[in-house]
Amino acid sequence: MSGDCIFCKIASGSLSTEFLVETDQLVAFRDLNPVAPTHILVIPKRHIESLAHIEASDGALLGEIMLAIKELAKEQGLEKGFRVVANTGPDGGQSVHHLHFHLIGGRSLQWPPG
Ligand code: AMP
Repeated sequence: MSGDCIFCKIASGSLSTEFLVETDQLVAFRDLNPVAPTHILVIPKRHIESLAHIEASDGALLGEIMLAIKELAKEQGLEKGFRVVANTGPDGGQSVHHLHFHLIGGRSLQWPPG
């Protein structure tokens, strides 16, 4: 747990948030400012600053996160497709410095994003 990290507070339960998924390693919850009908964040419980800070030993954790995203997309009825985004660092537009994957769907998404 990193002291002033909002996602560490969510993951530990100290900031009350409804989880769509919770395992020993990860939680998933709805984004506060959704950009699409479905906008879910999937995060590791352990504080990792960003995708630029992962290690080879995080492989199993990242695999678990990807499988959770796949299952969530199925549960949310995103059979027409979805987008997964991991904003990383200042140029990547990361605003919360705890690794997270946005699962976005429920409408047609353009690329590149606006
Ligand atoms: P990013 O800009 O990629 O770092 O994304 C951070 C995301 O976290 C934004 O989409 C915010 O809307 C979302 N967010 C920030 N605080 C909360 C919160 N307490 N609960 C849910 N989502 C949050």
